[in-house]
This record gives sequence, C-alpha cells and structure tokens, in this order.
Amino acid sequence: MKPTLQRPVIVPESLSTPVVTPIMPSVVYASRTPDELDSQYEGRAKGYTYAREGHPNASVLAAQIDALEGVSSGIVLGSGMAAVSAVLLGLTKAGDHVVGGDQLYGRSLRMLAEDLPRLGIATSLADVTDVAAVEAALRPETRMVLIEVVSNPTLRLADLDGIAALCKARGVLLVVDNTFTTPLAVKPFDHGADIVLHSVTKLMAGHSDATLGWVAARDPDLMQRMAVFAVTTGMTASPFDCWLAERGLATFALRFQRAQDTARRLADHLADQAGVARVLYPTRPDHPDRTRAQGLLQGQGGNMVSFVLDGGRAQANAFAEAAKGIAFAPTLGDVGTTLSHPASSSHRALTVEGRAALGITEGFFRVSVGLEDPEALIACFDDGLGAARGV
Ligand SMILES: *Cc1c(COP(=O)(O)O)cnc(C)c1O
Repeated sequence: MKPTLQRPVIVPESLSTPVVTPIMPSVVYASRTPDELDSQYEGRAKGYTYAREGHPNASVLAAQIDALEGVSSGIVLGSGMAAVSAVLLGLTKAGDHVVGGDQLYGRSLRMLAEDLPRLGIATSLADVTDVAAVEAALRPETRMVLIEVVSNPTLRLADLDGIAALCKARGVLLVVDNTFTTPLAVKPFDHGADIVLHSVTKLMAGHSDATLGWVAARDPDLMQRMAVFAVTTGMTASPFDCWLAERGLATFALRFQRAQDTARRLADHLADQAGVARVLYPTRPDHPDRTRAQGLLQGQGGNMVSFVLDGGRAQANAFAEAAKGIAFAPTLGDVGTTLSHPASSSHRALTVEGRAALGITEGFFRVSVGLEDPEALIACFDDGLGAARGV
C-alpha cells in the first residue's frame, strides 16, 4: 500500500449536522492560496489562522456570554484574571491612575497594589458602596474605575448607578467584574458600564473543571485594543475548556435559580441558630444594603452567603471539620457547595486589624451554595454548628 500523507484532514461528509458544538483543537488553519489568506486578514472573508488569535470554540462561547450580557463584541480568554489583565494592562499607560473597589477579588487587588504601580500606573482603592468615596479618589489622570457589584466576602453592594453617573460626568471608564452577580442578577451595560468582565470559571461554567474569562467593551476601539493585547500576551482559552463551559452554560439559569433559592433558605436558617453571631445575605432585612439589593439586583440575593460564628479559630476548625460533605475549598459557583475561611485564605495577608475593619474575624465563613438537596445541606451546616458549639 502506498503511504498516505497526513494532510489535508478529511472531515467525513454528512448531510445531517451535529447537535453539539464540535471541539476544534487545531492550533493552525490551512489556506488554499496566499490570495485567500489575504482576504481573511483583510476581513473580506471569515476564517481562523492560528488558535492564539482565535478559534471556533472560543467564538461560540463568547457569543453565548455576549447574548447574556447584551453586547456583541466579547472575547473569551484563558482565565478571569486574563480578562482583568486585558483591561488593566491593555488600556492603560504610564502616568494614568486607576481606582479600584477596596474589596475586589484578591488577585485584582494585587494587580492594583503591585503590578500597575511597577509599570508607572498609580492606583487607589475606594469604598464602592459610597459614591462620594469614589469621587474623592478620582484624579485628573484617572483612566478607569474597577468595581464588583457584590463584594467578597462581606457581600456589600456597590452603588453601581451612582458610580456610573460619576464616571460618565468625569470621562472615566467604568469597568464591572460581574462574576459574583452574573447577568441573571444585574446587566452592568444597562447601568452605564463601559466594560464588563467575568471569571467564567465560576458560576457560568459552573462545574470547577474549566478556567476561563470573558471581557467586552461597548466601544469598538477599546474592544479592539483589548483583543489585540490579549493575542499578543497569549491569553488564549483552551478549546476544550470553552467546550466544557458551553456545556455548563446550558444549565446556568437553572443552576443559578436553584442555588439562589437554597442560599436564601440557608441564610434564614443560619440566622436562627445558636452560635451564629451574624449572617450576611443581600436581600435579608438585616443586611445594610438590602434596599439597593431590591433595586439593583431586582431582589435576587445570589448564591453566596457569609456568616460569622461566635468564637475564634477553634470554633472555625470544629465547624469545617464537622460539616462533612461541604468542600472546604476557596472557589465559588460550583455545582457543589463550597466553604471558604477568608482569615486563613483570601485575606490572610491582611493584619488582624485590617481584617477586623472589614468585619472578617476568625469565625467568618463564606459559603458558595451549590445544587444539593436543601434539607441535606442545612443538616450538614447544623452538624458543623453543633460541633462548634461543643468546643
Ligand atoms: C475568581 C475570580 C476572578 C479570577 O478568575 P480566574 O478564572 O480564577 O482567573 C476574578 N474576579 C472575581 C470576582 C472572581 O471571583
């Protein structure tokens, strides 16, 4: 038999079409002629060239997230932090100033504290529940304000509308990391955001098996600059991860609803238990931002609940150990409930006083509620509380 060449790849012909997006891991795409390549590069024909520049699975996923956020230009990147980087590093230059919320995701805070200043970009943090505090942080050279609508782990709500009006009046870009809230609770573009980003890793993909990000800007020039920067710096998403996230997105709305319903129940239950000093859930009557939650989030509290145990590290250890069946793991948005302890993880770099100023004590836990049977989940929390009370 004559040896055959490996190329071109043969895709078997089929009049019928698959009902699931195929995974296309090809790193490179072959063209027939230099003229055809020209027409692609010049935008006269559609086509892929090299996966770092874009690939079908990223395009399919980006279009689905675009539809949720009500925009048409988003791109999918290799992680949520890649999306943060595309904005903070792709759209600033030395001499600019950036304002961030003082309770942003830990790595975003780190980029503001360490990386931007190293590159000559000054940064300030502000309490984003208070528009006056954000206004006070603005300088003539402020380029953008980065906020999260619901803070981690204290679940405070930003004054999104107030900050959007301020940014518009001052010609400053408003960037919203919508990971915690998701477009099912709030669509930041409708409130005046210029750029929205996500860690798709969390609720959208939803199964803790794919690390991805997404970012979109309404202004095509800003979008183009971020897209080029992402390609240059290699923020490419894996086709397989994109495929997994697309599969996850198919159940996103159902998962969000279920997790949110259970979260509300869990919050109310915990608030009634001995040994629990405080429960934080945005729509509860005792939450400081409940009125804002009713308006901005349309009464949707989300899937995150935080609570504070009476006592200290000993009670926290006893709780985490006895609440078997809940993964003590620092992520969120998974199908399974996860528990995190900020004092020993996300906020361990802060001093005790720094944590206390945020209300984060040794008894503070953050819960990302998953899809378990609500009764079984609550029983599991009761096991943990019983053990903590017995210390
Ligand atoms: C997890 C997270 C990120 C970072 O996302 P990765 O996918 O882990 O890189 C950014 N912002 C928020 C609010 C997050 O929760």
